[in-house]
Amino acid sequence: MAMNRVQFQPGLSMPEFLRQFGTEEQCEAALERLRWPQGFRCPHCGESRHCVLRVGAAKIFQCGACRKQTSLIAGTVFQGTKLALTVWYLAIYFISQAKTGLSALALKRLLGVSYPTAWLIHHKLMQAMVEREERYLLGGEVQVDDAYLGGELSGGTAGRGSENKVPFLAAVSVDADGHPGYAKLSPVSGFTCQAVAAWAGAHLAPGSVVVSDGLSCFGGVGDAGCEHQPVVVGNRKPRDLPDFLWVNTVLGNVKTGLAGAYHAFDFGKYAERYLGAIAYRFNRRFKLDTITQRLLAAAVTTGPRPEDWLRRAAAPC
Ligand SMILES: [Zn+2]
Repeated sequence: MAMNRVQFQPGLSMPEFLRQFGTEEQCEAALERLRWPQGFRCPHCGESRHCVLRVGAAKIFQCGACRKQTSLIAGTVFQGTKLALTVWYLAIYFISQAKTGLSALALKRLLGVSYPTAWLIHHKLMQAMVEREERYLLGGEVQVDDAYLGGELSGGTAGRGSENKVPFLAAVSVDADGHPGYAKLSPVSGFTCQAVAAWAGAHLAPGSVVVSDGLSCFGGVGDAGCEHQPVVVGNRKPRDLPDFLWVNTVLGNVKTGLAGAYHAFDFGKYAERYLGAIAYRFNRRFKLDTITQRLLAAAVTTGPRPEDWLRRAAAPC
């Protein structure tokens, strides 16, 4: 069997991770470098002179000019946490290195925290992944397909709880040699021209060529300045056609990712986050050695996402 480029690449080993992030001091220093690469700057007045205080375990910078205090974790996704950064970083390590994602239940066991705490960590980090993914648009040739979460795909009970069935679009950009680039997995309000147009406007660069099985709603990409190229499927299934090889591969990732790791979750409410985390991992499949640091950087730049905010449902396109 040929060596698989994704599977045989070096990741970040646990001993190496612990060598870099095994102590609270190391984690604080890494966070400080990410927030202030040139050293601390007061967010209020820009002054660099400061002194460091400890309030409990929290590291606080006090500005030497305006005297205002800034906590190391304020303004990041870690804001307000009572947990040690070493626990957060371990969560980032486990989530980023797990091939098919992790459930909050698995995190609870691995980190030795309560289930509600594991749920919060999990959702905050998935949200950081979603917000990172929102920065990028797909361009060039893009394979798309429509699918449902909570139906046959997720291994759920068919026909039960249809209100929990979420329509979503899977899309993968493909280069001139047919190699996959980046993927997007996005819940939509339905498979209508209007929803597809809104989706394309948010996720595709104008001028993209969208290859689909010809479902009429995909004509909606024209409204976002993209070209629709329907493939005649006839009585074959899109999954049997080479035109859809990569979008089918990504849909396979959704199936294994959700069936293996998430026993039950509210698809309707949190689909964007679960799908976004799968796309995040796919899009960094050749970067297993740096994906942990990348997710850490995403967590630092994602603002505070408190529990009540996380529990509110996001409205799809
Ligand atoms: Zn200041």
